[in-house]
Amino acid sequence: MQSGLNGIKTIEEFDLKNKTLFMRVDFNVPMEEGKIVDDLRITAALPSIQYALDKGAKLILASHLGRPKTDEDRKKLSLEPVAKRLGELLNKEVLLMDSPEGNAPKAILPGLKSSQIIMLENLRFAEGETKNSIELAKQWASYTDVYINDAFGASHRAHASTDALPQLITDKGVGFLIKKEIEMLDKVLYSQEKPFTAVLGGSKVSDKIELIENLIDKVDSFVIGGAMAYTFLAAQGIAVGSSRIENSKIKLAKELIEKIEFKNKKVILPIDHVIVQELKAGAEHKNTDGPSIADSWMAVDIGPKTRERYAFEVSASKTLLWNGPMGVYEIPPFHEGSYAVAKAFARNEHTTVIGGGDSAAVTKAANLEDKMTHISTGGGASLEYLQGSQLPGLKVLKA
Ligand code: ADP
Ligand code: MG
Repeated sequence: MQSGLNGIKTIEEFDLKNKTLFMRVDFNVPMEEGKIVDDLRITAALPSIQYALDKGAKLILASHLGRPKTDEDRKKLSLEPVAKRLGELLNKEVLLMDSPEGNAPKAILPGLKSSQIIMLENLRFAEGETKNSIELAKQWASYTDVYINDAFGASHRAHASTDALPQLITDKGVGFLIKKEIEMLDKVLYSQEKPFTAVLGGSKVSDKIELIENLIDKVDSFVIGGAMAYTFLAAQGIAVGSSRIENSKIKLAKELIEKIEFKNKKVILPIDHVIVQELKAGAEHKNTDGPSIADSWMAVDIGPKTRERYAFEVSASKTLLWNGPMGVYEIPPFHEGSYAVAKAFARNEHTTVIGGGDSAAVTKAANLEDKMTHISTGGGASLEYLQGSQLPGLKVLKA
């Protein structure tokens, strides 16, 4: 069967006893004023971490956090709160190195106790990380026996920790999180139960063109909301007022609709909207009667009739993929359309997969996380994978 995991080993295939295991994890958690807002990415990596410890590995964890540029950023983006949280979760001592570079781990490794884990400081404090530096990778390789990538959210980037390092290591593979992520996305791409509906939204058509192209032959219907819907409506000659559209993509949207319909697939667009004259919290808003929008009004969410229509489409499907919110969900009450989709997904008992950072955030805000088959921990990585791209962080692991 076609799978992104073909030719790639998993953590279970290595003898880890007393081996130094360099594990790339994605601890790029949302932080506010030095506090972790959501530790999903930490808990999602626990199965691999726990497994490695149970098997007697000497564990070195490596992650980036945010995009440090200035010295001020460096203070804010230390992995210290993450190390602390992980220590609590595992009941182990997490030794945070001052720097992601250098030989400090080498000195500590021989005496490392089974109650201790090494964690490198924010990888992006090292200039070579985003530059995919071989020099930096050589430092890490000098003390690494086995390399495991479990950082799904970073696997679409060829950086020193995801590409240059595994190039230098023979014993390499993926952890349980990446395995699960890819298995779920593979199910959607290659062995989906029909009918398969892709609910797409978010800010731009241009972000999702390749996704639509790659899914055309696989889905039965596209259900489209969010700002991208207005470029599609404009392509059909419907008045969209001052809604956010991409003028340069109208022609392409028209071609995409023709292509989808030519393949006998459905493309379902909003039939009513929530509109405002000014986009701000507390803005006066109203619903339109039909699809067209008067001058100087902009659509900020799908309307009640559309929500019902979309929920019906979702209820009639056996494979569901959601990427991109239906409205400006950050400003209530314009989250209602996205909540309606989240609720319809939650009610569906078949396969429901959510990719996309903002769609995951909506699902969490609606408190429906537990009701989904899978919520991806990597918005960018899942989008690229669903587009049909090879993720560099996986490609390098192929034997
Ligand atoms: P995801 O992260 O799930 O892939 P995107 O990043 O593509 O989603 O899009 C999310 C953004 O789209 C949100 O910030 C949201 O405010 C915006 N958005 C959705 N609908 C509209 C709309 N009608 N007008 C303007 N922005 C919108
Ligand atoms: Mg987003």
